[in-house]
Amino acid sequence: MGSTLRIVNGRVYDPANGLDGVVQDICIQDGRIVAAVPPDTKTVDARGMVVMPGGVDIHCHIAGSKVNMARKLQPEDHRHDVHLRTRVSRSGTGGTVPSTFTTGYRYAALGYTAAMEAAVTPLGARSTLEELQDTPIIDKGFFVLVGNNVLLFRLLQEGRLEEFRHALAWWIGATKAYAPKLVNPGVDAMWKGERNANITTLDQKIGPFDLTPRKVIGAFIQAANDLGLPHPVHIHCNNLGHSGNYTTTLETMRIADGRRAHITHIQFHSYGSVAGKTTDNPTSKAREIADFVNTHPNISADVGAVLFGRSTSMTADAPLAYMLRQFGGHKWINADSENESGCGILPFTYQDQVYTNALQWAIGLELFLLSDDPWRMVFSTDHPNGGSFMSYPKLIRLLMDREFRKEEMAKVNQKALDNSGLRDCHAREYSLYEIAIITRAGPARLLGLTTKGHLGIGADADITIYEEDADKEKMFSTPRYVIKDGALVIEDHEFRSEAEGRVLHVSPDYDPGIEQVIQPFFEDFYTVQFANYPVDVEYLHHHQVVPTAHQPAGAAPSPGA
Ligand SMILES: [Zn+2]
Repeated sequence: MGSTLRIVNGRVYDPANGLDGVVQDICIQDGRIVAAVPPDTKTVDARGMVVMPGGVDIHCHIAGSKVNMARKLQPEDHRHDVHLRTRVSRSGTGGTVPSTFTTGYRYAALGYTAAMEAAVTPLGARSTLEELQDTPIIDKGFFVLVGNNVLLFRLLQEGRLEEFRHALAWWIGATKAYAPKLVNPGVDAMWKGERNANITTLDQKIGPFDLTPRKVIGAFIQAANDLGLPHPVHIHCNNLGHSGNYTTTLETMRIADGRRAHITHIQFHSYGSVAGKTTDNPTSKAREIADFVNTHPNISADVGAVLFGRSTSMTADAPLAYMLRQFGGHKWINADSENESGCGILPFTYQDQVYTNALQWAIGLELFLLSDDPWRMVFSTDHPNGGSFMSYPKLIRLLMDREFRKEEMAKVNQKALDNSGLRDCHAREYSLYEIAIITRAGPARLLGLTTKGHLGIGADADITIYEEDADKEKMFSTPRYVIKDGALVIEDHEFRSEAEGRVLHVSPDYDPGIEQVIQPFFEDFYTVQFANYPVDVEYLHHHQVVPTAHQPAGAAPSPGA
């Protein structure tokens, strides 16, 4: 008999198992949820409290070279937000881009137990994994940037679709990534090769390649589906942030044509324009976007909501950062990773009286309030782009508390509200059950994490217990208990023990012959030797391979898990 724990008297919100506030015991043994534990087991009395699975963040930026550059760019943030060492936790710094240890502690302190870093260059995989392994408590993985990869583009251009699929699988396996990520697909060749050019339509020719974004997006959607990846291709659409971009977003979703695809931070892709020009002030097209997602069950999205205050824009979409730099202030970074991806970073402040910022805030809320299926329109601020993950409790309150939302609406630029539909969908309030879906059950299901986001038998014992409070921001800011893999990490609002958390990754099957195609390309164009590029599994000390649809559950090797 290993370590056991029993939670009693709590109201359980476990949407994956249909539990909507039912008072029920939860039994834990050896890090998993089980049917029963011995009577003398240690008990947590959750009377008057809400029990949910641990939160799962489907899209955030918490590790990797761009995150480190963002940390270096803002030393002033660190001085003002020092995280002191305690008996069980290390020191660190906060701000919009906290240090690794502080990131793990602060996620856990909000009741989150898993998070996905959403944009890592393959070349940056090794250092990203180092950082993720330094991020305590939470389980974590990353999405690998492949949507501007020169070799993949060459294979696609030559119609070598089978090799394209094998190469994609190789890249995911070689980098120990969780899912493929597209960012403004096709843009790097334009940005680097044609003096700050951007992609503007899905049918535009991509620089020197005989390809279009439409063809690239379709090929990745197909390959990810064919590989049976637990999470489909994760798409940051073209034209992010531009007025009138909602038509590009709708077109991108249509490319999927019944196949699974995930559109990320869809709020940033839901803009109309008054006279149809990209230079006009944006208007809200949240209704059109929400209607499409509502009626297409193959499509999922996370919102990428905006909260007012400090943020850091960090993106693989280099021309976007170039556009934003005129609004951001005095410092920005533009960088490039050979053959793989671009990058842009700038500190940014969303202001409630600025028309565009207020409209973005309203559109994020609209998308939540117009969604018919919380399982497919899930919670994110694209941390730290739309706002820090520390603002999640406030966003939850905005969704759950109509009166609070009304007070906040009165403070923002009213012309922006007039050009949004927020007043029309204002009646809706999210329930605790729906919050449990958009913050844990839904993201876990979309990620294909079958042991997360629920409290059924066999699930990971990652559990958060909140004290009920009419002020939902307060309630979700400081859980009373957080349990990770069956251990009480936070008890009576305080850290009691350290936990490591696992790196989650996918190892899709591929034909090893593909290495004969990839290796010569490395010798010609990369600064890294081919043999030094893949991250060996031995490099990961605490990890878990999540199987594809073609691999039997539990068959994939997971030493050290
Ligand atoms: Zn992002």
